[in-house]
Amino acid sequence: MSQGRGDVIRELETVFKDRLFTEPHILTLYSHDASSEPGVRPMAVIQPINTDEVIKVVRLAIDYGFKIIPVGSNTSLSGNATPKLENTVIVSMERMNSIIEISDIDWYVRVQPGIKVDELNLELMGYGLQWPVDPASSKTATIGGVVNNGGGGMRGAKYGPASHWVLGLEAVIGTGDAIRVGCRTIKCREGYNIVQLFIGSEGTLGIVTEATLRLAPLPESFVGLLARFDNAESLVNAVIRVRKDRLWPMVTEFVDDKTAQILGLEPGYYLWIGVDTYGGSEQQVLSKLNNDISLNGGSIINRASTWQEFSKLLEPRRMLYSAQLKAAFNDYGTDAFLLIEDIAVPMSKLPEAVRELQDLGRKHHVKMMLGGHIGDGNLHPSAWARRTDRDEMERITRFFEDVGKLAVRLKGTVSAEHGIGTQKKGLLREALGAKNNNEDTIINLMKNVKEIFDPHGVFNPGKIFD
Ligand SMILES: Cc1cc2nc3c(=O)[nH]c(=O)nc-3n(C[C@H](O)[C@H](O)[C@H](O)COP(=O)(O)OP(=O)(O)OC[C@H]3O[C@@H](n4cnc5c(N)ncnc54)[C@H](O)[C@@H]3O)c2cc1C
Repeated sequence: MSQGRGDVIRELETVFKDRLFTEPHILTLYSHDASSEPGVRPMAVIQPINTDEVIKVVRLAIDYGFKIIPVGSNTSLSGNATPKLENTVIVSMERMNSIIEISDIDWYVRVQPGIKVDELNLELMGYGLQWPVDPASSKTATIGGVVNNGGGGMRGAKYGPASHWVLGLEAVIGTGDAIRVGCRTIKCREGYNIVQLFIGSEGTLGIVTEATLRLAPLPESFVGLLARFDNAESLVNAVIRVRKDRLWPMVTEFVDDKTAQILGLEPGYYLWIGVDTYGGSEQQVLSKLNNDISLNGGSIINRASTWQEFSKLLEPRRMLYSAQLKAAFNDYGTDAFLLIEDIAVPMSKLPEAVRELQDLGRKHHVKMMLGGHIGDGNLHPSAWARRTDRDEMERITRFFEDVGKLAVRLKGTVSAEHGIGTQKKGLLREALGAKNNNEDTIINLMKNVKEIFDPHGVFNPGKIFD
């Protein structure tokens, strides 16, 4: 940094006044995201309220040589929002949280990035519309965070991840300029697709200050079931059968028996399956689902006939990560270290993937739990260890790597929705290496793209490939 910390803080104070924070306890809060990845205390946290202020902080970063991490709610799970350098200013987007415009004919909404997913969907409900990217963390996750992590979620089986639901963006890039890209129409050809480049870029290309999001109507009617199985294999077979039946559920989620136990459910493997239907087809859908579940030994333990009712049934599944954390803390208290995986495999490979995941758990003697968005092949095995136990830490690290390699071998991905952050940099290379003679060719392409958007190396250093 060409000038000292004191000079930077004074400059920031001039612009941000009481929206600048340097108190140690606040800096500690921003020294890590929701993953176990260790970070360092940043030098300051600021809360801009408009794009002009975002431009100002980026220009200060260029002049003074400090780094910036834009954050929403810090719920990332791969170290994506964890500072690795002390000369970092956290740009928290939480005060830029307005809905700018809703079009109920064009089915788009323009928002500032700090609005939370649930707050947005609550407002959209009044219009009979939804933004269907629904991470389990939707109560806290912000649109900026979901877009920049390329997040997915509970409705992903039908609607897919964020990349399907963003039409346009405004962002401040590392030259200190604001750019506007994308359209308000679903079809949009304006040269290279810069909107998609930002999706999943994890705050490394710029700060998103506005997003135009594509919307879908809320389901007219709904068939939702919660079913219990004795083992993972039967549950997976039921999911495959539903697919063979050509049903297209909006939600297909599951947890294993260990998670069920922590969640206070009867022992077993649980499947939440919900199909958005058109009035009149409910009975037909219900009887197909009943069949698919019972033929595979499952029993139905609850039903819902509206999306709202089903959302309530789904609440325990939203607690998967909390249950995994609870299990880790029950075993090791604050010494617990939890690694959560985020692989996806093609649906046809699910039986193999689930079987081999369990084998890997046994092979490495790890404490593990399993659950995830099984309807789009996205599995979240987690494993935990005592930080101070080197042998156990090594075993969970090897488990983590082998799970990623399994996904690559099955032609899936090492990260479906959580992103690469710091924790999956090695696995990203593994995935690229499997498709290319030399993974460096692709890594160098990404580095060159980053350099164009961020020529001074301001944004979120140490992430993805850095
Ligand atoms: C309990 C729990 C459940 C979860 N379930 C899911 C799930 O089902 N699906 C899923 O996809 N994820 C899930 N996650 C992970 C996480 O919640 C999501 O990735 C979420 O999208 C992050 O939102 P956030 O606002 O917390 O973003 P943050 O963690 O603050 O930031 C995410 C990334 O985006 C960047 N960023 C944030 N805002 C901006 C901006 N305005 N401009 C540029 N870059 C920005 C950050 O630098 C960071 O790299 C879960 C996490 C938890 C703790």
